[in-house]
Amino acid sequence: MRIHYRIQPLDLASHRFAIQLTIAQPDPAGQILQLPCWIPGSYLIREFARHLVRISASCTGQTVPLEKLDKSTWQAAPCQGPLTVSYEVYAFDLSVRGAYLDQTRAFFNGTSVFLQVQGQEHLPCYVEFNAQDFSANSNWQVATGLKAESIDEAGFGNYIACNYDELIDCPVEVSDFASVEFEACGVPHRMVISGRHQADLTRLSLDLKAICEYQIRLFGEPAPFDRYLFMTMAVGDGYGGLEHRNSTALICNRSDLPLAGDEGVSPAYRQFLGLCSHEYFHSWNVKRIKPATFAPYDLQQENYTTLLWAFEGITSYYDDLCLLRSGLIDLDAYLQLLAQTATTVYRGYGHQRQTLEDSSMDTWIKYYRPDENSPNELVSYYTKGALVALCLDLHIRQQTQNRKSLDQIMQALWLRYGRDFDQHGLGVGEQEWEALAAEVSGLDLQDFFDRALRSTEPLPLPDLLGHIGIEMQKRPASGANDKGGWQEPIAKPALSWGCRYSADAAGIKVSHVFYEQAACRAGLAAGDVIVAIDGLRANTALLERLFATPNAAQTHVLHIFRRDELMQLQLAPEMSPADTIGFRIKKESSQQEIDNLSIFTGN
Ligand code: ZN
Repeated sequence: MRIHYRIQPLDLASHRFAIQLTIAQPDPAGQILQLPCWIPGSYLIREFARHLVRISASCTGQTVPLEKLDKSTWQAAPCQGPLTVSYEVYAFDLSVRGAYLDQTRAFFNGTSVFLQVQGQEHLPCYVEFNAQDFSANSNWQVATGLKAESIDEAGFGNYIACNYDELIDCPVEVSDFASVEFEACGVPHRMVISGRHQADLTRLSLDLKAICEYQIRLFGEPAPFDRYLFMTMAVGDGYGGLEHRNSTALICNRSDLPLAGDEGVSPAYRQFLGLCSHEYFHSWNVKRIKPATFAPYDLQQENYTTLLWAFEGITSYYDDLCLLRSGLIDLDAYLQLLAQTATTVYRGYGHQRQTLEDSSMDTWIKYYRPDENSPNELVSYYTKGALVALCLDLHIRQQTQNRKSLDQIMQALWLRYGRDFDQHGLGVGEQEWEALAAEVSGLDLQDFFDRALRSTEPLPLPDLLGHIGIEMQKRPASGANDKGGWQEPIAKPALSWGCRYSADAAGIKVSHVFYEQAACRAGLAAGDVIVAIDGLRANTALLERLFATPNAAQTHVLHIFRRDELMQLQLAPEMSPADTIGFRIKKESSQQEIDNLSIFTGN
């Protein structure tokens, strides 16, 4: 019983892979084959089968008819086997979620290229990357979390996954990447970087080692993998990551990466380290401790859970906190990151309109399908989830005089659900997360969770932070680039039109209009193009002049195109609302507050 895949570039210029799948003992009733409709970690139906073309099947030299059953499912006519299925996949998606092929690089997730053999998902899968098949570029090497069976120095050869689930959880990078290796708690780790860059790999490896060792020790040694791979694509403008069981695929700006001689941690590098920290933390929280509805995944349809605040929010909370606790950034830098997270939540109305549980359930149709109204109606379970995690941590510490914390809940989740997931396959039930938190902390957390997850009431952030000697400031934005942070004295508030737009020499295009703010009152809509303001051509320069000489009382006459119809509107700018957050350590903290803070930060 053997499942064997061979994947090769069919044509680099037209971005097509050729895949040959051989099934030793196909279902005698007619083998069913399916491609996943989504990739775990990214909750949107993507229908990868739309890029699968020219599929055919044969058995001992004879063509076997294939019938298409639905958008992502085929059935071969009954045959004795072995059954060979050949198909092409178009691959030109640079994101971490799909597959990509050109002269510079081959990258793919198994969800894009490997058909699932129905009824045989539990069997080992063998994968072949033949060096001759990839010979177009002699400098190419292979990097993947898959287990090598027999490979050459560049990594070409045969790999094996213990089942289909593992096969599609190990993306593959083939390119002339840069590579650096390091150990964390004795476990081999590797970072490969594709794309043009001049990163200081030694610096990177030292910083990653600190993060990885902190996290391994947080959950308790040994690490849940015997090796780990960071796969990074460096580009001019891009950001993203996707977690896997023993690897992660990342995309970043090349300017985020540290250069030789750089000192300190720049905001851009801090963001990259935060991304690495985030995806690595997922090795425990979502890849092994996972919602029951993901155990196993149903890859043909949406898998609903209310728990994404715990899996993404808590991971977002720890990603930056781990930078602080592992000594890579200081408390001021951490409070700056926290202020940016909080500012993201409090800007827009979504946090007053959608609960975190609803945000989680509806991620398939909302978070992953943002539109012009999203800032008004959508709250992110990443950012607000991170604030809830912070509040939960502080609440438990306060109520138990620092005897308990979120760390212990995560460790308990790990022992109960995560560590032995491969044996028991049990995920966290929808009610079980809160029950375990109550059990570990010894507290009745019903009111806390009702408020944080099932209401849009404000979080008790100022009170809880006060207990560790941190003050919170809520102030108006001081300009378009104000992402949050403590300000003293508070700068003069900027004028606000209450919309998002992009401006160029030709005009100003409105992309989002916020409820109950100036643009909304004026009657502007997303998609409108403002062509004149007070009788003058609207462009970047005019806008800058208007904002440089603010007069809140002045009403502007706007000429706009809505579709191809000219309209005239009157807009009265308003002062920016107090939606920007800052945090700082109190000037005169009590000894108790100082002690509470140091226990929280791990310093
Ligand atoms: Zn995540």
